[in-house]
Amino acid sequence: MPPSTDKPAVDLSTPVQFLKGGGAHRAEQLARLGVTTVRDLLFNFPRDYQDLTDVRTIAALEEGPLVSVLGTVEEVDMRDGGGRSIVGVLVRQGDDHLRAVWFNQPFMREKFRRGQTVLLSGRARQRSTRWEMAHPHVKWIETEQDEPRGSLLPIYPLTEGLAQRHVGQLVRAALEACLDQLEEVFPAGYLEHHDLWPLRFALPQIHFPDSPEDLERARRRFVYQELLVLQLALALKRQQVQSSLEAHPLELSAKIDARIRRLFPFPLTAGQNQAVAEIAADMGRAYPMNRLLQGDVGSGKTIVAVYAMLLAVAHQTQVALMAPTEVLARQHLDTLDKLLAGSNTRLGLLAGGQSAKTREETLAGIAAGEIQIVIGTQAVIAAGVDFARLGLVVIDEQHKFGVRQRAALKHSAVHPHYLVMTATPIPRTVSMTLFGDLDVTTLIDSPPGRQNVHTYFPPAADRPRWWEFFRKKLREGRQAFVIVPLVARGSVADALQEETEPEEALAEPPSPAPATLFDEDVPAETAPPPVSLEEAYEHLANGELEAFRLGLIHGRMSSSEKQAAMDDFRAGRTQVLVATSVVEVGVDVPNATLMTIESAERFGLAQLHQLRGRISRGMHPGYCCVFTGVENDEARARLAAFVESSDGFRLSEVDFELRGPGDVLGTRQHGLPPLRVANLTRDAATLEEARRDAREMVEADPGLTSEEHALLRRMALVRYGKSLDLGDVG
Ligand code: ADP
Ligand code: MG
Repeated sequence: MPPSTDKPAVDLSTPVQFLKGGGAHRAEQLARLGVTTVRDLLFNFPRDYQDLTDVRTIAALEEGPLVSVLGTVEEVDMRDGGGRSIVGVLVRQGDDHLRAVWFNQPFMREKFRRGQTVLLSGRARQRSTRWEMAHPHVKWIETEQDEPRGSLLPIYPLTEGLAQRHVGQLVRAALEACLDQLEEVFPAGYLEHHDLWPLRFALPQIHFPDSPEDLERARRRFVYQELLVLQLALALKRQQVQSSLEAHPLELSAKIDARIRRLFPFPLTAGQNQAVAEIAADMGRAYPMNRLLQGDVGSGKTIVAVYAMLLAVAHQTQVALMAPTEVLARQHLDTLDKLLAGSNTRLGLLAGGQSAKTREETLAGIAAGEIQIVIGTQAVIAAGVDFARLGLVVIDEQHKFGVRQRAALKHSAVHPHYLVMTATPIPRTVSMTLFGDLDVTTLIDSPPGRQNVHTYFPPAADRPRWWEFFRKKLREGRQAFVIVPLVARGSVADALQEETEPEEALAEPPSPAPATLFDEDVPAETAPPPVSLEEAYEHLANGELEAFRLGLIHGRMSSSEKQAAMDDFRAGRTQVLVATSVVEVGVDVPNATLMTIESAERFGLAQLHQLRGRISRGMHPGYCCVFTGVENDEARARLAAFVESSDGFRLSEVDFELRGPGDVLGTRQHGLPPLRVANLTRDAATLEEARRDAREMVEADPGLTSEEHALLRRMALVRYGKSLDLGDVG
């Protein structure tokens, strides 16, 4: 790398190979971590730190924790034997001694001289006569300025052949060569005003913190920066949508309002009215609505969406309603069919398993503008459907889709309005991140007369009692679900074929205890609960529920089989539906008030709450009972929370704490690049701050076109431009 005349020998874009201590071999190892340039190296932050700040006297040592001891080197010796060498260094502190030892590192011997002051950090062990530390970290205290205090050692991600000290040395070299070449990201005055450390201050401290407090301050700077850049991208997206995208203005009038409400079988709740008002206001504008409607399971989101849909239809525009499962799509079709009976609105269904002819006719009807409302699963609708005049897209149960998937729908130059619904209450931090470019309406009340669901988590021995209660309620005329995690025992692939793709199925669940030779001796009620649909159905049909009409449904059935199973259940021809999580979302059968969830440990909290939502929809109280086979602490905590609370928001917070933000919505599907430094559980306050600041900044400087925001704007575009489709902002 020949240096050019005015460029420094090493700059931020120099390959790490050319750093002092680099080399081709190291560079190759680092490349496997995605680190190729000096800049990459500097921004490859430690994933953790080893805390060596606990400095103690030898008298106060104990076994276990990482501690540091300051002392004077008194003796250095080395023993060889059997192909092993041991270097021993005796360190004195007052009258006490500590021995440090290194195995097979003969070179360590040369590093110590009698009389040197050293700080040794490691885990101390009590030997017969004195304390000992194996392979401690050593800090040589050579000058008066050297602080005799322990430090925080960075722990970097590594690859084969790469050690912590290699990365550490290279980072030091990079800091030395390039720290003063780094350009500050924030405008002048901004740092002070927001209590942030300058980059040149924070960067060395995030790698080699002087103290936990310094690390915290350095970290805050980078967390804030990362979240601000994200929030700026989201704010730019909002602005872009509002200023440059054109939509049909679908204004509400008193006449339209009356015509819509006349079709409804019940008056809307105050919350629903509020939601309808917000949505109608958005739809009346000439740029696209981008609104998230969230409300707990059973809060009555469908009718709100129907209102929006009829408003669009009143303006002669078309509507696409997308649901995550076919079962739900067909249910929506049913609901709308009933509501619109007698009106001349034409509905169309696009679902898997339709004949080519039906599909073609429907597509033609949509292209000609004759079909006003199209209902289907998102995959089916997104695949090349041409609308004559698309006015509104409603996406039900958004959390089951990728957030960004809505962009996949084809439309003309005029954009449709978007209404996105979710029943998975999302922790605020997550919704601000994943849905940060959306406006949010939250349904806070629920339809009148709604009863709480009683939830139980009894020991296996109580099974007979539960089933007895279950039968009693069935005889009173109620209906029931029995939920099991898998279609057939054995493969995870089974679960993956469920239409809703339960996230849990991705992590191979612990397999149930293998059957023992003494199976016959195990009393029935302590046998592990059924895991698969086949097992459960067999057992129930020939046992506890012998006297009742059972149906079953799962994601691998054909469309018509599924439809028949749902129809039978809805009509009461079957009393109990044995099902997989295919009924998890949206299914609305108010007379169903009982639910048994088998092997409940295999479901996530959000999923359990959704499932329970199936039986809290009518005027009768619901009863839900969960059984587990395998228990671990996490599963028990999850089920305990489930029993304790029926508040979806509360449960989502718990889920978030138990599983971390990544899994709650499934990072793999939300479509935004992952956060690198910030942690939504830990950094919620900083997130709020960054969001507020980002919105202010974009409001004051639309499009972030001013010079002082140039760098921030570039960072937002580089990182999120593609996933947020920010193209024309750049
Ligand atoms: P979710 O928000 O989970 O999608 P739904 O829209 O399916 O909930 O509504 C749940 C049940 O509540 C449905 O049976 C629906 O008909 C009923 N419902 C909704 N709104 C009202 C209301 N204002 N008054 C009475 N019942 C209502
Ligand atoms: Mg719903």
